[in-house]
Amino acid sequence: MKGVVLIGATGSIGWNTLEVVRQHAGKLRLVGVAAAQNRERLDAIAREFAVPHASLFADEGVEGLLRLATLEEADTVLLAATGTVGLRPALAALEAGKTLALASKEVLVVAGGLVMETARRHGARILPVDSEHNAIFQCLHGRPADASVRRLILTASGGAFRNLPSEALDRVTPEDATQHPNWDMGPKITVDSATMANKGLELIEAHWLFGLPPDQLDVVLHTQSLVHSMVEFIDGSVLAQLSPPSMTFAIQYALLYPERADSTAERLDFSRALQLDFAPVDMKRYACLRLAREAMEAGGGAPAVFNAANEVAVNRFLEKRLPFVAIPDVIAHCLESLSPPAHDGTVEELLATEESARTVASRFADTRMRA
Ligand code: MG
Repeated sequence: MKGVVLIGATGSIGWNTLEVVRQHAGKLRLVGVAAAQNRERLDAIAREFAVPHASLFADEGVEGLLRLATLEEADTVLLAATGTVGLRPALAALEAGKTLALASKEVLVVAGGLVMETARRHGARILPVDSEHNAIFQCLHGRPADASVRRLILTASGGAFRNLPSEALDRVTPEDATQHPNWDMGPKITVDSATMANKGLELIEAHWLFGLPPDQLDVVLHTQSLVHSMVEFIDGSVLAQLSPPSMTFAIQYALLYPERADSTAERLDFSRALQLDFAPVDMKRYACLRLAREAMEAGGGAPAVFNAANEVAVNRFLEKRLPFVAIPDVIAHCLESLSPPAHDGTVEELLATEESARTVASRFADTRMRA
């Protein structure tokens, strides 16, 4: 029986995780749950799964998350909190030797060096829950990406506006942007899919998780979202992982790892015609992806600036206070005008870098406000 702590229980990853725990009640036991502010839903989850420890971020702040992340009875901490609020709990879980099932990509984007070093020092394992990284992890059979790997190829659906001509992008609304063609996710990540900032964050996440340099990380458009990512080896063979676009596959794999178990999830139906399309990404159209790559190459505090600036810009867009097409402008402005530390900072330094990026991003976004 694995003891699981779920941080971010009321979001879409949380919802899918509860489904996996329900299906595998004989193998997985929820020992702690946390949510941001939905008290009613958190109480309902705690009752249904008889969870001994629960924490509402609105009441307890990060202290509650730290307490859950280090619970004696926890084997695995699944971190699916929004943004970098999960950074300290992630580090605490690793220091306590827990397995970290990581869905909050921001944690690695902002503090990848620190997080990976902490895991190494304490012999703790990080298992990716993000579908792309989970796919790569499966293709590598949990082994490191050694000299036999030529590159990792992350697949991208292209998001909500992939078929829209570029000229039409300045008129799109938050309602348009939050309709993802394949995946059912929260509003922030759905907008990040449409700009491909999400794929940019995932490149940085892959860089840290698998320890490969930027030039061994690629992105390819794949509109069906059935191939979740691929590994190309030096002999030219490419391994891919496929499944229907549901997060339960990655979550179940991470929670039960190294075991594979039955699932009631929908399966790929090869009795019907099935098409898989791949195409190169137009980097002019997806400026956020290009900027993320630049931030990854710059290293140090640059990815933290990218992430914070993007967060501010996307929130403004969702509040109808910034045009969709101005999202990359906000990020570019922050990367240019802030000179983040070139080294991996401490948690405090990284969070301070984030904070100043937020301030600069907000000020710049004010000047681009919709008339
Ligand atoms: Mg993903």
